Amino acid sequence: MPEGDYAVELFRQQGFSRQTCTRCETPFWSLGTHETCGETPCQEYDFIGRSPFKKRLTYRAMREDFLSFLEANGHVRVRRYPIVARWREDVFFTQASVYPFQPWVISGQVPPPANPLAISQPCVRFNDMDNVGKTGQHFTMFEMMAHHAFNFPSKPVYFKDRTTELCHLFLTERLGLDPTAVRYKESWWQGGGNSGPCFEVVFGGAEAATLVFMENREVNGTRVPMDTKVVDTGYGLERLTWISQGTTSAYEAVFGDALAYLKRATGAKHVDDRVLTEYSKVAG
Ligand SMILES: [Zn+2]
Repeated sequence: MPEGDYAVELFRQQGFSRQTCTRCETPFWSLGTHETCGETPCQEYDFIGRSPFKKRLTYRAMREDFLSFLEANGHVRVRRYPIVARWREDVFFTQASVYPFQPWVISGQVPPPANPLAISQPCVRFNDMDNVGKTGQHFTMFEMMAHHAFNFPSKPVYFKDRTTELCHLFLTERLGLDPTAVRYKESWWQGGGNSGPCFEVVFGGAEAATLVFMENREVNGTRVPMDTKVVDTGYGLERLTWISQGTTSAYEAVFGDALAYLKRATGAKHVDDRVLTEYSKVAG
């Protein structure tokens, strides 16, 4: 994709520079200067034992923080949808926060419940299951927090500039992340017959969010622009909770009370380094 597809207003205003990862050669944008794109395996986790956020948040508090931040920024919080996909005929389960709106909201046949909206949607991905318990960071279910905007031609809401700005404000002002730590990796997303450029939002070795700008649809194998461009973001609730607490594994951050009980009951003192070793095998 041409560089201009990713040069959003936030980067121009604040002086982000476009750099290239010396390991995987992926281009990314950052206020700081970095050798790598910041994601494993190019960079190891560096938030274990030292959270980059100014506050430690529980799972519930992180969800509330995210949703209330978006409410304060003009979004309506909507209730989560069932984990069984309601309209899509190609899948049984909801694997991302945008699924409950596909295809009829995106095609314009059904109005969205609010626009723009904020949600924390339970999701399930069966390919994660084999990693549960091994990597220290995969779950049988997870919540994808998101802000979505449906840009109907008659009433556009916001697209790349505001999406990136909201993400940056949430991470830096709300959670207290050092603005120079964040890297916005250029990437391309496609799924369900739609596609568009996206940013993978990375810091501390982990991808914390993805910002997708859905702007094309496939018609007989050809990519044509969509009438309604859609902002499709995804912020990992478990991942952000884990980073905020800096615990050895995501399980300790999300299931802290349960793990504390298990440790007491079994006499185990800590979750050992095996989870991270296993993770590097899977990620590598
Ligand atoms: Zn890289």
